[in-house]
Amino acid sequence: MRIATFSHEGRRQVGVVSPDGRQVTPLPWSQDLARNGALPLVEAAARGEPVPAPAGAALPLAAVALEAPLRPRRNLWCVGRNYHAHAQELAGSVFKASNANTMEWPIVFTKVPECVVGPADPVVLPGDAVSTRIDYEAELALVIGKGGKNIRRADAMSHVFGYTIVNDVTARDVQMRHQQWDMGKSFDSFCPMGPWIVTADELDGAHTRVRCWVNGELRQDGRTEHLIFDIPTLIETVSRGITLYPGDVIATGTPAGVGMGFDPPRYLRSGDVVRIEIDGIGSIENRFE
Ligand code: MG
Repeated sequence: MRIATFSHEGRRQVGVVSPDGRQVTPLPWSQDLARNGALPLVEAAARGEPVPAPAGAALPLAAVALEAPLRPRRNLWCVGRNYHAHAQELAGSVFKASNANTMEWPIVFTKVPECVVGPADPVVLPGDAVSTRIDYEAELALVIGKGGKNIRRADAMSHVFGYTIVNDVTARDVQMRHQQWDMGKSFDSFCPMGPWIVTADELDGAHTRVRCWVNGELRQDGRTEHLIFDIPTLIETVSRGITLYPGDVIATGTPAGVGMGFDPPRYLRSGDVVRIEIDGIGSIENRFE
């Protein structure tokens, strides 16, 4: 099932996307329930309740404005340096202090939930006085269903509700300046998400393709088979001593081909359009301005 959050005639709604991707049928929810997008649905599923049947007339997808599929209730978990080729391309800068071949643990940081925007929303550049090194990172993100603490690797996949796409937009100069990455990762609008959540029964997140284009030029092309730390390991790691809740989002890291990895680097400028596609999910496309 593909679950989308969208606005139509001024109302935020949550609905189920048709198999052909052309229509969305809304759930019979109040405005208030839809406030955080699909979050109440993920929580209900985690309690073992059935997904409510869509009601009302199907709307053409072209007639609605897709929004981020859910509003995370707290910071998004993100993973750094999780593809070998990406570890290599930033070995002289971001990952100078770490050796991907000998690292026992993933790099984990967070993005604040307020930076999440929709799959077609503009990303606002902060201005040259704040940062001149804005970069893209195409990533598969998973949405936690059933929560838990100290989740074992062997049980981890039963905690995945589904998958979506994020662009982990990054101000590289700010990321490097503050020791911790959260500031350089959390600027307003720096987390495009969508276009919907694909439930875990319909996508094998361990075997899919992640691609990113900037102004039509293919920059990133990776497969999740090449994750250094796989999805069960990430869930096990993030839940060590910390309770995960339904609707928590874990972004799994980005493949090689980010702007900083080029010589000279190719940072984003106003007018650039970044498109990310993940097989089995769909695509998001955001203009930077
Ligand atoms: Mg990232």
